[in-house]
Amino acid sequence: MDYLIRRALFLRYGGGEEAGRCRVCGVPASLVVLRREDTGIFDRYRGYARCVCGSAWPFTLWKCPNCGVEGAGNFDVYVLKEGRLLRCKQCGYLFGEVEETPDVQTLHVKFLLLFAKLRSF
Ligand SMILES: [Zn+2]
Ligand SMILES: [Zn+2]
Repeated sequence: MDYLIRRALFLRYGGGEEAGRCRVCGVPASLVVLRREDTGIFDRYRGYARCVCGSAWPFTLWKCPNCGVEGAGNFDVYVLKEGRLLRCKQCGYLFGEVEETPDVQTLHVKFLLLFAKLRSF
């Protein structure tokens, strides 16, 4: 499905998750966004999964949005200027991991373009 159509559906009907996939697009999340939380004693990160249409839902860190495998050892990690790129060793799924930013939508689209480029190698 075209990204702009997905985005329009999200804006019209709202997003969310169903069985681990985006309710609008039916695909796994392609970006994990880290939100920094100040507990008063230390900072910690909480993650949420995001679909490029705009849907977002709570998510565990170091988990593959596609096959659900968990644990840092299951991923190849590439550090980029914008964040990190993770590749699941179990299923080969590519997804991004970034810190929360006001312009996360633009960043998300950028990551998708990068995935497309990497898959064509
Ligand atoms: Zn979506
Ligand atoms: Zn996987």
